[in-house]
Amino acid sequence: MKYDVIVVGGGPAGLAAAVEANKNGAEKVLVVERDQELGGILNQCIHNGFGLHYFKEELTGPEYAGKFIDMLEQTNIEVMLDTMVLDVDETEKCVHAMNKKNGYMKLEAKAIILNMGCRERTRGAIAIPGDRPAGVFTAGAAQRYVNIEGYMVGKRVLILGSGDIGLIMARRMSLEGAKVVGCVELCPYSNGLTRNIVQCLEDYNIPLYLSHTITDIQGDKRVEKVIVQKVDENNQPIPGTEIEFDVDTVLLSVGLIPENELTRSAGIEMDPATSGPVVFENMETSAEGIFASGNVVHVHDLVDFVTAESQKAGKSAAEYVKNGETKDQTYIEIKNGDGVNGIVPQKVRPSNVDKMVEVMFRARNVYKDVQIKVKSDGKELASFKREHMAPGEMEKIVIPKAFLDKVENGEITVSVEKVGA
Ligand SMILES: Cc1cc2nc3c(=O)[nH]c(=O)nc-3n(C[C@H](O)[C@H](O)[C@H](O)COP(=O)(O)OP(=O)(O)OC[C@H]3O[C@@H](n4cnc5c(N)ncnc54)[C@H](O)[C@@H]3O)c2cc1C
Repeated sequence: MKYDVIVVGGGPAGLAAAVEANKNGAEKVLVVERDQELGGILNQCIHNGFGLHYFKEELTGPEYAGKFIDMLEQTNIEVMLDTMVLDVDETEKCVHAMNKKNGYMKLEAKAIILNMGCRERTRGAIAIPGDRPAGVFTAGAAQRYVNIEGYMVGKRVLILGSGDIGLIMARRMSLEGAKVVGCVELCPYSNGLTRNIVQCLEDYNIPLYLSHTITDIQGDKRVEKVIVQKVDENNQPIPGTEIEFDVDTVLLSVGLIPENELTRSAGIEMDPATSGPVVFENMETSAEGIFASGNVVHVHDLVDFVTAESQKAGKSAAEYVKNGETKDQTYIEIKNGDGVNGIVPQKVRPSNVDKMVEVMFRARNVYKDVQIKVKSDGKELASFKREHMAPGEMEKIVIPKAFLDKVENGEITVSVEKVGA
């Protein structure tokens, strides 16, 4: 049987994409998920704060995922759980997958949506010096142990990295009775949402050490001591600034990596700035009929934005099934200018834009009282004021179609400039 749309991954991105594809006319939709249940990473995020934008109410991760699972259950969308997608074939438009029950399967589709999410960077990825004792976890792995498996991972905890997962785990470990002695961040600013700094560190009197890093982990069987040092402007440890922490546990919250092994091996064009596929305005990748959304495209702060982006991917996949490829492939490239990183979408086909295109990106640094400038060939097309920008908070601007029609050289640059520049 040939499916209209196959969705790879049943996290919030896959759920929203599948429901929206179905709603827009794709009748035979299949979601393939390697885990034993749908919901992705949300299943372990038992804190609240999800859904404020989309549902206008405060939900926990499982509640948010549950609402989409309920929507999916009202449809004829098929779900294959415990099934690993091994390969995505761009030319044959099929997915190679396997599970314990059916063994190897070749599943064909008219359109495919990639929603594999992301994974955490580990100690190996950032090469922390020192011994190799037990007690060093990624914050997400610790979150799974504590919230799903029911194991406490430690009693005295130091957190490296001020990304949102680390901040949330600082609060979680405190609530579970552990002593969190601090959160250590290499950058001179936090990489998490301001609300998480306040609610997860300040409310629990957990000190945040900005411009610091771990330079030694000591311990035989279990972590016993961690040495932290201040760093200079080149991120080099400053001698004489050592602080010793007697802890038994280190949690790492040092970044997420979009899970793109399948994307790369399908030969899809990648963007080094996002570590995800290059996408067009409708979330289509460089492979015709293969779409992508959610954390596999770029790391999101809020699941609500994952949902909005994935609904766009689902709708576009359904339109592709109905109408075939976008007729006019002429595109404008949107480039990262000064102070801007990780623009999505990277390419826009004006003929495929209805009224406007939403562009997401991150600031490269912390900025106050600046403007985001959209320029083509040196000429300003649009500008947006911002009182505050930080790498931890994703930015969104909207470029009207009328502005795209003014672009002559096939290129737009988005940059951050001081007000008045
Ligand atoms: C540890 C952690 C904690 C987080 N905490 C928060 C938070 O508190 N608040 C928040 O807003 N955001 C949080 N995030 C961000 C969160 O990932 C996103 O908000 C959202 O869950 C991303 O949705 P997604 O569907 O793109 O990815 P995911 O939720 O990661 O879902 C991807 C799904 O794809 C499946 N999959 C991957 N590869 C394959 C394959 N080859 N075959 C079949 N299935 C596959 C995975 O099993 C998974 O179910 C967290 C992220 C992580 C990693």
